[in-house]
Amino acid sequence: MSTRWNILYRGPLSSCNYACGYCPFAKTRNTREELQEDASKLGRFLDWVEASTSREIGVLFTPWGEALVHRAYRDALLRLGKMPHVRRAAIQTNLACGLQWLEGAERDTVALWCTFHPTETTVERFAAKIHLLDRMGIRHSVGTVGVKEHFPLIEQLRGMLPESTYLWVNSLKKNPEYYDQEHLDFLTAIDPLFPINHHQHRSRGKECSAGHTSFSVDGDGIARRCHFIRTPLGNIHDPNFEDRLSPRPCTNAVCGCHIGHVHLKELGLAETFADGLLERIPQKGAIAGR
Ligand code: SF4
Ligand code: SF4
Repeated sequence: MSTRWNILYRGPLSSCNYACGYCPFAKTRNTREELQEDASKLGRFLDWVEASTSREIGVLFTPWGEALVHRAYRDALLRLGKMPHVRRAAIQTNLACGLQWLEGAERDTVALWCTFHPTETTVERFAAKIHLLDRMGIRHSVGTVGVKEHFPLIEQLRGMLPESTYLWVNSLKKNPEYYDQEHLDFLTAIDPLFPINHHQHRSRGKECSAGHTSFSVDGDGIARRCHFIRTPLGNIHDPNFEDRLSPRPCTNAVCGCHIGHVHLKELGLAETFADGLLERIPQKGAIAGR
């Protein structure tokens, strides 16, 4: 098989059961018709993945809202997990859903990117779910947003997670004055990769695998090199779609989001995360103490 494709899927779903103050999708609702449309587009994407057997494929669902409260997405992960050429089926989630459905998940393939939202759940409840995932043998990463008021909870979460679980922190880097050195030291002690996240990487003209071995797909099958460059590459349902993928330099001035700059070659994060690239789990030994 030739090079693996890492695909970020984001359909029209935009509703969420949580109400995080830092998010525009908090407590928004989709109508029943909108959810049906989203599920049908998801089904078409899954059919395409199933038929694309000439490639190894990894999929990360990056919904605008929360998807695992909807059966269509739980079933999608289980279905992808059973496709022999799919090496990873991962999703970003707030982990509010029950976890029993994961009993049927392929342990080598299905993975969860779990984000702790301190205003919406407790550290105890969230950490208990992570321990359950750990006992079930479900691959998972855990992370949170580096809000200063939440530092005590972030520290508490670190203490309550399994020691082997890497805890990532997303920087609130839009305001360069937001953190002082003590804040930065605290967050770097929690997440040794925080300094990379806390940076708008100058990316124009630089090599990035987005658009070659990684691309994003929307509910209509339109592929873009990443979530941050709107120009379409083509449509995955076009029989010649593969011809649209090639190595090319980034055209944006900066890349400031993990799901983007993880593909920026000069950062070497493909090596740091290796097999855990999509679900954000660093390779064993890639960072100190893990
Ligand atoms: S859980 Fe995620 S999508 Fe939902 S409100 Fe919070 S940040 Fe937004
Ligand atoms: S560096 Fe970021 S913005 Fe540029 S192509 Fe890669 S993922 Fe997209």
